[in-house]
Amino acid sequence: MGQAINRIQQQGSHPINHIQVSQAEIYEGHLVLINGDNPIKRPIKEDKLLPISSNEDINELHDGMSMEKTGLQQLSALLAASEALEEVVVVSAYRTKEEQEHIYATSLVENGPVYTASYVALPDQSEHQTGLAVDVGKISRDVDFIAPSFPSNGACQTFKQLAADYGFIQRYKEGKESITKISCEPWHFRYVGYPHSRLIEEYSFCLEEYIDFVKGYTYSGDHLRFKNGSLQVEIYYVPAEVGPSTTVPIVKCDLYRLSGNNRDGFIITAFHGSEHNG
Ligand SMILES: [Zn+2]
Repeated sequence: MGQAINRIQQQGSHPINHIQVSQAEIYEGHLVLINGDNPIKRPIKEDKLLPISSNEDINELHDGMSMEKTGLQQLSALLAASEALEEVVVVSAYRTKEEQEHIYATSLVENGPVYTASYVALPDQSEHQTGLAVDVGKISRDVDFIAPSFPSNGACQTFKQLAADYGFIQRYKEGKESITKISCEPWHFRYVGYPHSRLIEEYSFCLEEYIDFVKGYTYSGDHLRFKNGSLQVEIYYVPAEVGPSTTVPIVKCDLYRLSGNNRDGFIITAFHGSEHNG
């Protein structure tokens, strides 16, 4: 995981007091919440996507899939750490709106409305359109495209156990259906970045609950704090101002990340210390 931190540092880590963030950025970043109430507002920019084939060790169900760059790099590291490269196939990753429309329409015909509503998001309500979601399946002769098997044993289980260390969460868990409106999907992982993944796991939140939770930590109030070894992270929420941009205060730190929540503001993740033990 040291690599992830180094990569962020290269993007610029000078201590800044305030930055101007355009309103459009509410709808961008690793922490955007996509669901029925919060549909896609801005399609991901082409230059933020990378073909999965750029890492030839990763198996993909069909050619031509792509994913958001950081998410793909972390997926690749996670697959290697889980020794899952030989056992796991990427079934679906980034989808355009048109692809999501096609999948939805096809599933309606093949699987019916009840099944489709449980497992397939409507166009513009699928986080696959962000490039941050990936469906993974255990390699077998017949991998199901909508609901691939991803069992809790072998390399798949190791993948599940290590996912949070690489910034991934299982997005749709059992017991959260009343909030997510999607049935449990053991195969669907969403990149949110570390340590958000670890916090979501520790609190047993779904992403909807976590985004609400973080809103309780504002710049002027308490910050959400995370510690792992010498790595310390501060997380806080800044509501978007009315107008074309928002002045976002940044605490003194070694590096920070900013993400919109796809609703009403920004989440700042400020890192202190570059050591990261995963
Ligand atoms: Zn999925």
